[in-house]
Amino acid sequence: MDISDKENSCLIVGGSHAGAQLAISLRQMGWQGRIKIISEEAYLPYQRPPLSKALLAGKQELENVYIRPETLYEKQNIEFALKTRVAKINRKAKTVETQTGEIISYDKLALCTGARVRKLEICGTDLAGIHYLRNFADVSRIKGELDSPKKIFIVGGGYIGLEAAASLKQLNHEVTVVEAAGRVLQRVTAPQVSNFFHAKHHQQGVSIVTNKQVAEFLGNNKVVEKVVCTDGTVFEADLVIVGIGVRPNEELAAQAGLKTNNGIWVDEFAQTDDPDIVAAGDNTNHPNKLLDTRLRLESVPNAMEQAKAAAASICGKPTEYASLPWFWSDQYTIKLQIAGLNTGYDQVVLRGDPADGNDSFVAWYLKGGKLLAADCINRPKEFMFAKQLLAKKIDVKPEQLTNENFELKQLV
Ligand SMILES: Cc1cc2nc3c(=O)[nH]c(=O)nc-3n(C[C@H](O)[C@H](O)[C@H](O)COP(=O)(O)OP(=O)(O)OC[C@H]3O[C@@H](n4cnc5c(N)ncnc54)[C@H](O)[C@@H]3O)c2cc1C
Repeated sequence: MDISDKENSCLIVGGSHAGAQLAISLRQMGWQGRIKIISEEAYLPYQRPPLSKALLAGKQELENVYIRPETLYEKQNIEFALKTRVAKINRKAKTVETQTGEIISYDKLALCTGARVRKLEICGTDLAGIHYLRNFADVSRIKGELDSPKKIFIVGGGYIGLEAAASLKQLNHEVTVVEAAGRVLQRVTAPQVSNFFHAKHHQQGVSIVTNKQVAEFLGNNKVVEKVVCTDGTVFEADLVIVGIGVRPNEELAAQAGLKTNNGIWVDEFAQTDDPDIVAAGDNTNHPNKLLDTRLRLESVPNAMEQAKAAAASICGKPTEYASLPWFWSDQYTIKLQIAGLNTGYDQVVLRGDPADGNDSFVAWYLKGGKLLAADCINRPKEFMFAKQLLAKKIDVKPEQLTNENFELKQLV
């Protein structure tokens, strides 16, 4: 395809981290044709991480978290169709159909549809006061119900649940987190890290209950009032936030006959099995040569880096996407930065002491003596070196990782 041809059209479905980056990268790579982002949300692309952090805590407003200013899209001639949901793709005709029946044609199509929240399927979820936390509309609804101190009940002790707990506790609400597993962050961190965060929340006055599953919500006048757990325990609640994970928005691709399996199946160039359709972000299942596996990630760095690869594919300049996964979480004054994936670890060693009151340590994850990942708590320097050690697959001994006097810089 001649990318200088102004008659070409690239349609991007989904206007968030991946969609916005893809559009901008297309222009940077010389795409001269039309670019249109179709987004079901009512706003220009905004950063999602602050939703559970600064936005929920009332420290920032939507206008502070736009990914790029409106003027940039205007300057780059990037069009938007907001509040518009794509309902169907017709690959033969190279068109998409919106929910209102509008047909829009494309030469290249990018699916940046991200993920949606996993819903709790129990009795009482239709009561008012029960919320999820995925987009700005969710945060607005939650904040609209927080005019006075409330009893807030959070289902799920993962990152979203704990970040929401921290933000709401700082606003002086009474916060309880219930986690079905034996410890918070069980799916993603080692016990040492879980215990650290549990203790931190406890210190701040958040009540965390583990090994407990929610069975139903009860209410009066259609508003939630009580949370009943499977063991019969009852909690009072004015407002509930459910944070139990997400599912990839892959149905549009699947209905169009594209391969999906825990995400839209793409190659290392973000290309689907249709040469005119790419996909990027939370919705993709992609190979990563660095990790030697296929995976689906839910993180901003992944959405942005994969979107760049997708733009390169559209422009006929394929560039492999094989970045090291990384992620972060902010809770109170703690910045957790995670480098790599700890899947299958058989050893955890610590640099620093989680219990010394300094809120500063690193949990290193190893498998068969090889470094897999690092959870860096208020340790930006170690995070930087961890990323390099992992990306370059540099051998490092556990005793070097744990020794505060050993300069990791020597190894990279
Ligand atoms: C509260 C919260 C906190 C987070 N914190 C962090 C963090 O600290 N660090 C981090 O790295 N990541 C964090 N994440 C994850 C991160 O936000 C996601 O990984 C990132 O947003 C993925 O971007 P995306 O563009 O792939 O998809 P999404 O952000 O999910 O965007 C997809 C967009 O497509 C739209 N869409 C879907 N289907 C259609 C359709 N058919 N038609 C039109 N539009 C459609 C959706 O409405 C949405 O606007 C957080 C997420 C949440 C919800």
